[in-house]
Formats: sequence, C-alpha cells, structure tokens
Amino acid sequence: MTSFDLSALFDEHLPARLDLAERHFNPGLAQALRLLGLDREYARAEGCYVYDAEGNRYLDMLCGYRVLNLGHNHPVVRRAVAEAMERCLPSMVQVEVSPLTALLARELSARATPGLDVVRFGSSGSEAVEMAMKFARRATGRPRLLAARHGYHGLTYGPLSLSGRPDLWQEGFTPVLPACDTVPFDDPEALERALSSGDVAAFIVEPIQGEAGIVVPGDDYLPEAQRLCRRHGTLFVLDEIQTGLGRTGRFLAAEHWGLEPDMLCLAKALSGGLVPVSATLMRREIAMRVFGGVDCCAIHFSTFEGNTLAMAAGLATLHVLDSEGLVENSARTGALLLDRLRELQQRHECIAEVRGMGLFAAVRFSEPRSLGPRMAWKLTEETGEGFFAQCVVMALLRDHRILAQTAGHDPDVLDCTPALIAGEAEVDYFVRALDQVLAGCSDAVKLPAEMACAVMKQALALDVPLASLQLSRA
Ligand code: PMP
Repeated sequence: MTSFDLSALFDEHLPARLDLAERHFNPGLAQALRLLGLDREYARAEGCYVYDAEGNRYLDMLCGYRVLNLGHNHPVVRRAVAEAMERCLPSMVQVEVSPLTALLARELSARATPGLDVVRFGSSGSEAVEMAMKFARRATGRPRLLAARHGYHGLTYGPLSLSGRPDLWQEGFTPVLPACDTVPFDDPEALERALSSGDVAAFIVEPIQGEAGIVVPGDDYLPEAQRLCRRHGTLFVLDEIQTGLGRTGRFLAAEHWGLEPDMLCLAKALSGGLVPVSATLMRREIAMRVFGGVDCCAIHFSTFEGNTLAMAAGLATLHVLDSEGLVENSARTGALLLDRLRELQQRHECIAEVRGMGLFAAVRFSEPRSLGPRMAWKLTEETGEGFFAQCVVMALLRDHRILAQTAGHDPDVLDCTPALIAGEAEVDYFVRALDQVLAGCSDAVKLPAEMACAVMKQALALDVPLASLQLSRA
C-alpha cells in the first residue's frame, strides 16, 4: 500500500486545479477566475503574503474577506493546532466539555463588551447568526427578526432570510423564513417604526457594514439603535463577523460607540483562519431561557461545536492578538492607510470616497468629471457594471502582484483590508501601486481598454457570456 503524500497531491494537481474545479467543484468560479486573469497558481502563504509556484510574492489586501487577521498560517496558531493533534487530545467526545472549550468561552466573554457571559460555538458565520436568530425567538417569545438593508449575515436559510440584498441572494431560493424583514441602515426613525409593533425579537446589525462596501454609520446611529431596542423589548444583536477581533482598531467595533449588545456573533478570524469556528456570545438570561435547564441543554447543538482543533486555534489567536499588540497595530496602521488613501484621493478624480476604521478600509470609485478619465470610466462601465473597479483589481494583480477585491454588494468599492500584522511597508507598497494603476486609468483609455480586451479575448476563448463580471463574494 502506498503512503498518503499530501504535498505530492497538492503539487501534482496545482496546474490542473481549475479543470478539476470546473468538472467537480464550482464551474462558474473556475471560469470567472480565468476570465478575469485571476488564475494564479498559489503554492504557499505566510504572513501578509501569498506565493505562487515560481516563488513570486503577492501582497494580500483581501485577507480571505477578513478571515486572516493574523496573516496566513501564523506560527503560534499552527503550533497550537499541531500540538493538539500530536498529543491526541480528545475531541468531540460529545458527552463531556473540553477545558479548551470552556476556556475559550471565558476568554471571549472577558474580552467582550460587558454582560456577554455565555458563549456557544459553531463552525461558520452563518451558524453564529442562525443561533442568534433562534435564541432571540425562544428567549423573547416574539416572532419577528429585523436586519439592515444592504447588510450581509450569511447564506444558510436563517441569515439568507435577513439578507440586505434579497435581489442578489434570494432569487430562486424562496420562500425564505417568515417574519424576517429589513430596515434602512443608519436610519433610527425607520428602525423605531419597525420596532413599535412590539413583536420584534431581535434587530441584527453589522456595526460597520462589510459587504455593503465598508459603510460606517453616523456617530449616533448605533447607540440610538441600542436604546430603541431596549425601549421596545427587542434584543440588540451585533454581527461582528467581519468587524471583530481587532479589524477596526478595537477588539470589537462595538467599543468605538460604547455599545452593550444582548448578543454578538464572531467567526472568520477567530481561529486565525486555520480551522472553521464561530461564536455567539449572549447575556446569561438569554442562555437560561433557551438551554438553561437539564431538560433543554441539548435543545441546540452542532457536532463540531467546541471541537479541540477550533478551540486550540481560537485560544492561540487571542494570545497572538494580545502578545503582538495587533489590535493597536490595526488602529495605527489603519490610520496610516486611510491617510495615505486620502492623499491619493487628492490626485485621482475617480476616488469619490475613502472610508473605514482601523484596517477595515475601502475606496469608493465614481465617474470622474474631466474628459479623459470620464471616457475611461464610461468605457469600462459599458463593459459591465462595476468593471472600472474590477479593472483596478486586475491591474493590481497583473502589474503589482496584489490580491484585492471589490465589495460584495457594491462593485464600485475596493476593499483595502490587509492582515493586522501589516506595517508601513505594506501600506506604502499598496498605495504606490494603486496610485500607478489609477494613473494608468486616467491616461485616456489605455488601461481599461487593455483590461476589457483581455477579458473579451478570454470570454471568446472560453465561450462564456460577459453578463456577470463581478467575482466578489462575501
Ligand atoms: N456575517 C457577516 C458580517 C459576514 O461578512 C459573513 C461572511 N462574509 C457572514 C456573516 C457569514 O459567514 P460564513 O460565510 O462563515 O457563513
């Protein structure tokens, strides 16, 4: 019998991975990657960088849609996971609780906003939100659930039902769950009108909307939303799946506004990007009303909840965030990034807005006023909505080896979200590259025309329609 050789399998199948994916995994994704020239053979990843099979280095400004706050393959997290395996620690015995599970629950609770004493785990962001939705209904006895327009909470049926872009995500998947509605984001009056019916179990909201394009609400909105929820007996739930774990320059974005939510969802970066994990933090009263008694302690559970590898990775992640001062670095490097991007805005008419907090930053493009840049913009937008920003993404990769993407719900927004270990060197490299790419765009129509031609050529070669050029996903 031959031995199992993972490295050989990886290396051997790297060149043919998209052919395999087209046949057996995700045909559309394989085509889109080829179409947009994003089909690089990535062979290794470490820190802020990914490396292709030839050893070329790519700066990762996407970070797996904010999974990789610690960067790729952080050595402390790797060691923790390896140690758990090497020691053959028990995992998923089910009729027990691992000390690592109880400890991670305590550590999250200790770092979170006051009152979130109980933590239940899952394996994805969607699962964390599902849990908040279920528990809110059972704890309050109320049926309705509210979220904000343009928000994103995941794609399983619970969070899908709260989608802020049902046109994009629900088509063909309806009916979704009943009694799930959205209200406009950053609009306390609309929220109050919706809450006044008295039957809303929870209002679930991202403090800064990620997929909407890193949208920061007005200063008063979140404190007011919390106050309104309290007044109407509705649970105030924060989805910090993107904003949490230092991304915005605080451990939780809630801290920027002094919020004290009733429940809070975490996922993505919680395991350093190495093992799927999510957490739903809640007030003890909510936990007691849902699964407090012996007779209902198993009313909600999931096989992989609190599994040893996820917990080991989670504890190591918190350790790294603390010991390397990454939350502070996110605030510091984020301020530098935003400053440098704002300088860029002075030179490039196509940058309509620079926004964000910490290393949760974004650039929004819009049609420039002067003739040359406007022609470039129009040419690209005629190719497809959001194609200007996609040209920028493609040029960043082709000419500067930078991985980036546009926001899921706003194709004109470029996410600028490096790992929280990034420093001045990464900011400098990215901003200079973006400067050059945008200079190329405003140079009559050179770059957009080049990109459009490249995509059309690929589309013809692959025989695929150009209907949807946006690769971005949550
Ligand atoms: N909430 C937010 C704010 C998210 O950004 C995401 C994922 N992008 C989710 C929930 C869902 O997480 P997952 O994809 O792990 O289910």
